[in-house]
Amino acid sequence: MIELPIVEYLRGQPVTGRKIYIIEDEQDISELMRFNLSLEGFAVETFSTGEAGLKAIEENAPDLLILDIMLPGMSGLEICRQLKEGQNTKKIPTIIVSARGEEADVVRGLEIGADDYVTKPFSPKVLHARVEAVLRRGQEARKAAEVVQIGGLTINAGRVEVLVDGEKVSLTQSEFRILHFLAQRPGWVYTRSQIVEAIRGENYSVTDRTIDFQMVGLRKKLGSVGHLIETVRGVGYRFRDSEPNL
Ligand code: CA
Repeated sequence: MIELPIVEYLRGQPVTGRKIYIIEDEQDISELMRFNLSLEGFAVETFSTGEAGLKAIEENAPDLLILDIMLPGMSGLEICRQLKEGQNTKKIPTIIVSARGEEADVVRGLEIGADDYVTKPFSPKVLHARVEAVLRRGQEARKAAEVVQIGGLTINAGRVEVLVDGEKVSLTQSEFRILHFLAQRPGWVYTRSQIVEAIRGENYSVTDRTIDFQMVGLRKKLGSVGHLIETVRGVGYRFRDSEPNL
């Protein structure tokens, strides 16, 4: 059983008031969804344009977004693309609502990163089931990403804490992000640019050139498990998927 600080726990699994935004220009459909999802205990807000929806999301991200494809102005696909490109918005679970004959758009949406879709007309029960399924998948993914343990190394993302053989190791934010990023997919090789892209944040000034420098520091701080980060010559770095046979 993983113990998480209470704030992380609440953020991951709000017991009440899970928030859903709906971007849909057809008022009847929008209202029907709002009404039924409210009955299921969700706090629902509706928007008739992508511009209004995006603004609200920037200010206060929902737990899930229901997105119509055909909208006046910005299309649902464009909204989806923008959200998936945003560091703070890319993880918002998104369900596309499509009309019959929009299969190609649905496929595009799923490729861009939407989690699921429903075709109009749909029953409120089906929509609710899809919403719960997408939220559940997100929760499972978050739990899996929360704690990584390999050999003597434990990375607790919720606590932003790293333990080596049970001892806490003090890392900078960049070092922590690099380690956590690599360790989530052991065996996968990442280029310096991919690492920079993945860990970029508002207050991080990491560049391709400083990555090597960060790696040296990180390995040193990790001591006995520093060898878990491997340099792949001419490519980049990877986190070992097993202990080397020494
Ligand atoms: Ca529409």
